[in-house]
Amino acid sequence: MAKILNVKNLRKTYKSGEKDLTVLDSVSFDIEAGETFSIVGPSGSGKTTLLGLCAGLDSLDEGSIELCGVELSRLNEDELALLRNQKVGFIFQDFQLLSTLTALENVSVPLELQGNKRAQLEAMELLEKVGLGDRYDHYPSQLSGGEQQRVALARAFSTKPDILFADEPTGNLDEETGEKVIQLLFDLNKEMGTTLVIVTHDLDLAQLTQRILRLKGGKIISNETKIIA
Ligand code: ADP
Repeated sequence: MAKILNVKNLRKTYKSGEKDLTVLDSVSFDIEAGETFSIVGPSGSGKTTLLGLCAGLDSLDEGSIELCGVELSRLNEDELALLRNQKVGFIFQDFQLLSTLTALENVSVPLELQGNKRAQLEAMELLEKVGLGDRYDHYPSQLSGGEQQRVALARAFSTKPDILFADEPTGNLDEETGEKVIQLLFDLNKEMGTTLVIVTHDLDLAQLTQRILRLKGGKIISNETKIIA
């Protein structure tokens, strides 16, 4: 199977006053196309930082990341933006919807950026799929947390990414809404073969993925492949 993500000897340091704070150290792993993968670990162990680096949202200090067959450090800003728009989806813990756009526009804009002539129609279909067809003209401030997360999901799905990074996708949701969101993510994996990389503190959610990477203090403590019967 082809590797969609290949991380080698990653090191990330933040400046903290006079000191350097190493938040990721000697992190290496890879993910195969179509896999479902979770990253777990205590708060502050570097999960969100790792996800952001893998998705090309932040720069690393040492090591290399190959995403969708491309070495990220070789790309300039424009090339990176293009890769993200065409092949990568990201779901943030705090949703990060654009507050001045309606639910429909939040989903259709990335499609329009891709030059998709059916952007509005496809965005509407996606909103219906996540159960928000009747809320298309609402602004994020008029939606509940669960509804905003479902808009964020529709936006992340809209460009049919090869790989979807999700940072605590159920973190701010009640149990029932969280389960719906998880179902949608795994449906996407099954229907379109989208690789899922999920950061979570929820071990029940992690158990649903084929592989679990455990981080502690910025280091990998285990990388376990589950045998799924
Ligand atoms: P997790 O997602 O596992 O909770 P994070 O990746 O958010 O961990 O953070 C790892 C460590 O890096 C924490 O100690 C956090 O305080 C620190 N950190 C994260 N982002 C920054 C930043 N922009 N500047 C300085 N320190 C940061």
